[in-house]
This record gives sequence, structure tokens and C-alpha cells, in this order.
Amino acid sequence: MLNKGSIAIDGPSASGKSSLARALANKLQWVHADTGALYRAVALSLIKASLAEATDNILCKHIKDQTISYNIRDNSTRVLLNGEDVTDILRSEEIGRTASRISQIPCVREYLFHIQRSLGEKGEVVMDGRDIGTVILPDASLKIFLHADVRTRALRRLSELEQQGIPGNLRDIQNDLEERDRRDRTRSLAPLIQAPDALLLDNSHMTIEDSVKWILQKLPN
Ligand code: C5P
Repeated sequence: MLNKGSIAIDGPSASGKSSLARALANKLQWVHADTGALYRAVALSLIKASLAEATDNILCKHIKDQTISYNIRDNSTRVLLNGEDVTDILRSEEIGRTASRISQIPCVREYLFHIQRSLGEKGEVVMDGRDIGTVILPDASLKIFLHADVRTRALRRLSELEQQGIPGNLRDIQNDLEERDRRDRTRSLAPLIQAPDALLLDNSHMTIEDSVKWILQKLPN
């Protein structure tokens, strides 16, 4: 089994990246790092300060005064915003929409780059996001690019919301996912693309267990 390696998992919204990365990290006894949570923490900070719609300049000034960090607990990362663990309040649609929008701003990506890179360099980490294989961990031992058709992803998101007791509409969710995909894939900075050395995994009809097995077979010895 790999020693001190890292696995990069990239893919579009609701493609199952985080569930898969968490299951894989558990199996390997490595740390799971959800990088989307960092963008969501920035979004939360801006929403709290009523700056979600501010100009890039004002927004960048605000971020400089914030402390966002990872705290490792039980093989997974908790996200701290100014010392407070906000991990469990980051999943709302409002935060997700704001995160998607502000992730295009250079100072946001620059700020979060170092947090992700320094955790990745420690090794034994499964990191998921949009630019892990291309920008954050270009030397990852294994890179996976996830694909799942948009309807499957919308159904997954709907069931996630229902489990939290939040009502959702399939058509609205699908439209929202398509809009986020378009933004992530077409932005000029760190767009969502498959790294040339990443393996494509279409998990539309696979369980998490099947995907974990598939990836474990690809791990270099
Ligand atoms: O994955 P999640 O939906 O939590 O991510 C929130 C937003 O953060 C995404 O819509 C995406 O635009 C952005 N993101 C990113 N790069 C990453 C992880 C997330 O741009 N590595």
C-alpha cells in the first residue's frame, strides 16, 4: 500500500466526491480533506458580514482579516472560521451558491491554496475538489476525475436535502447544478478539467463501495 501518498478526486457538484473520498480515506486510514468546505467557509464569512455582493476589492480586504484553517479529527478535516468549528453549518444552498460565485475570485483561491497544499504535502490524504489534480496536488500518487450524469446528480442532491428535512424541486436543483458546472468549467482560474494523468470514473450506476474497490485496484503499490 502507498506510503505517504495522496489521492486527488475532482469532479462536478454532487458527483459524490466527498462521500467517496471519505469512504476511501476510512479504508486507507488516511485523512479526508473536503476542499469545497473551505470555499463554503469563505462564503459563510462574507454572508455573516453582509459582504456576499461586495466588490472584489472589499471582499479581498475582508478575507485578509479572517482566519480559516483545517483541524484534523478522526481522519477527517473540520473547518475553523476564526477559531470556531463551522463544518456542520456549511451545507445550505445559500452558502453553496455564494461559494460557487466567489470561487472565481483570485484572492479567494490564493488564500485557500496554501491551506490545501500544506495539508496535501503531509501525505496520506484523500483530497476532493475541482482543481486538486491540476493545481493543488499536481504530484498526487493517484488522480481520479469523477463523472455522473446531471440527472443522477440532481436526484442525489434532492435525496440529500430530503434527509435533512429540506424540501427541494428536481428541476430547480438540476438547473442550479448545470449553472454551477458551467461556472466551474469555464472560469479562467483553475477551471474544473480532467488532469491529463487522471483516471475517469463514471459512477452514475455505481455504489460508493464499488467506486472504492475500483480506485483501490488502481493504487500503485
Ligand atoms: O464541493 P462544494 O459544492 O462544497 O464546493 C463549493 C464551491 O466551491 C463549488 O461550487 C466550487 O465552485 C468551489 N470549489 C472550487 N475548487 C475546489 C472546491 C470547491 O472552486 N477545489
